[in-house]
Amino acid sequence: MKKYKPVDPIKSPRFSGIKTFMRLPYVKKLDDVDFAIIGVPSDAGASFRTGQREGPAAIRKTSALLRHHNPTLNISPFEYISGIDYGDLPVVPGYIEEGYKRIEESLSPVVEAGIIPILLGGDHSITLPELRALAKIHGPLSLVHFDSHSDTIDEYFGKPYNHGTPFKRAIEENLLLVENSIQVGLRGSIYSSEHLEIPKSLGLEVITTEEIREMGLDSLINRIKERVGKTKVFLSFDIDFVDPAYAPGTGTPEVGGFTSGETLEIIRGLSELNYVGFDVVEVLPAFDPSEITALLAANIVYELISFLALMEKK
Ligand code: MN
Ligand code: MN
Repeated sequence: MKKYKPVDPIKSPRFSGIKTFMRLPYVKKLDDVDFAIIGVPSDAGASFRTGQREGPAAIRKTSALLRHHNPTLNISPFEYISGIDYGDLPVVPGYIEEGYKRIEESLSPVVEAGIIPILLGGDHSITLPELRALAKIHGPLSLVHFDSHSDTIDEYFGKPYNHGTPFKRAIEENLLLVENSIQVGLRGSIYSSEHLEIPKSLGLEVITTEEIREMGLDSLINRIKERVGKTKVFLSFDIDFVDPAYAPGTGTPEVGGFTSGETLEIIRGLSELNYVGFDVVEVLPAFDPSEITALLAANIVYELISFLALMEKK
């Protein structure tokens, strides 16, 4: 028997109880834990709409709908892995650099304990301190980054830390294996034609939404797998990868994206990588009145949990 698993939804209705992710136990001890769901309620780096600080709570609330068997990947994750909801990391509203310090410091013990963190954002600026904590233990990581934006701008408003800059900083700080990293889904208007070249000049592989439409989802999945190979992988999923018709609750939406079904198909194709951590970011509940964005984010996390169970089952 695995130590920590969700409340049984057949015995206790899904709308009841305290809203942890999937009604996993809220636990701060780190023994007998394979993965931890961790909220990072920061929107200190948002450039347009704010309110991503409410993302973790909204994802937790909708995650109560998830049942315990994943038929598509054919696995009941909690037969193989023990998971907890670790609560939220400390952040400092309005002080992004101080928040970065606290995020890194408070995430480090989880990583040191050999636990795989699944972090719920928050805006995308939080990925930088997450990568700092992970790279300290694992060394530089390859990045699989789903987003309609590259987030590799050098500075925003003359400042280095923002949700448009985390991967530029991460590369400068040698947190990434650039030659094994890939950005997927870029689209929409940009600040200037040179901005198209920034991620490529940093050494990242970039596949735009238009290119994905041309190559098809299976080819995309194969390109990602080839790029990362057997390296240690961090998967960062910005919910604005998805079309705003399916994920309206986000800060910088870009039209012409993927459906929720296409998104899940792509994610499920990536079950066999050597993951050391994940985040799902940029859910903004104030713009998500029917909770579909948070529900999709919860379902993406469910697939990621299933990956970890598949790894354990092998
Ligand atoms: Mn982003
Ligand atoms: Mn984005």
